Amino acid sequence: MTVPTACGHTDARAETLFDAKDPATGDTFTVVRCSRCDLVQTAPAPTDAELNGYYPRGYHSTTKRYRGGMDRVLSMVHRSRIRTIERLVGGTGSVLDIGCGPGVLINQMRSRGWRVRGTERSASAAEQARDVFDLDVSAVDVHELVAAGNTYDAVVLWHVAEHLHVPEATVRGIARLLRPGGVLLIAVPNFGSPEARIGRAGWFHLDVPRHLVHFTPSTLTAILGAAGFRPVKVTHLVPEYDLFSFVQTAENRLGLPLNLLYDVLRRPEARLRRQQSGRILAGVAVGLAVPLSIAAVVIAPLAAAARRSATIAVYAVRLPDQRE
Ligand SMILES: [Zn+2]
Repeated sequence: MTVPTACGHTDARAETLFDAKDPATGDTFTVVRCSRCDLVQTAPAPTDAELNGYYPRGYHSTTKRYRGGMDRVLSMVHRSRIRTIERLVGGTGSVLDIGCGPGVLINQMRSRGWRVRGTERSASAAEQARDVFDLDVSAVDVHELVAAGNTYDAVVLWHVAEHLHVPEATVRGIARLLRPGGVLLIAVPNFGSPEARIGRAGWFHLDVPRHLVHFTPSTLTAILGAAGFRPVKVTHLVPEYDLFSFVQTAENRLGLPLNLLYDVLRRPEARLRRQQSGRILAGVAVGLAVPLSIAAVVIAPLAAAARRSATIAVYAVRLPDQRE
């Protein structure tokens, strides 16, 4: 099998790791590792046109995604990230959030004095960002922004890079958008984590074929370094993902239908499948989630402390001498 396009080593050997099913369509893909650079990728990588068919309605988060007190928790989590960015860039400034969804993060940054802009290729999420928060969000491409000569003090790439055909090209584009000393906040699932290794094809964050690339801390760092970034801080606790991911991965490995709990809790359009799976299985998925959540509350912080978390967020500074 040839290596997909993400690293450009199309003449290298693709080492097969395992096969995995798309929980939404049931289509099977192979997870492979490039023999030259170790970048793990989904093979075959669907084309952009094919990918449109793999994104269910509501895949991109909505402003009403979380229930109850989760919004307040999320706002606190965002505040801590924004403060880290402010510390690194020396105050507020201009920020570009690439793949910003409905714009919750940049809306909060604007309220702290940031000039904000977002890009989002999901028309419905971009519309929400404009209608609900009155944000400047469009489907513009990074390379178009580079060509237009735009510059920013900070760029956010939050769980977007794993969806890109050639993430290195986007990261290089971001380097040209940032002023020297500007900060990139990039977050991705961690394929090098124990949760990924134990979960394998049932790992919640594998999400083939929507995730085309599966980063480890070292493959992500290599891409950042090649684009002229110096990682200055890596966050291993991402509470809005880590607890749920642990519970869902455990249920997948216990043999429940793939991502059943996620469907029951989050996706109204998955109702059809819920009926197919049956009310009893759905009840099992929810019932098991209680003890598993308790386990997750213990294990996720331990994984974070050991720097082995299921997702990572990296703050990287653009070096002044790397500008092309
Ligand atoms: Zn490679």
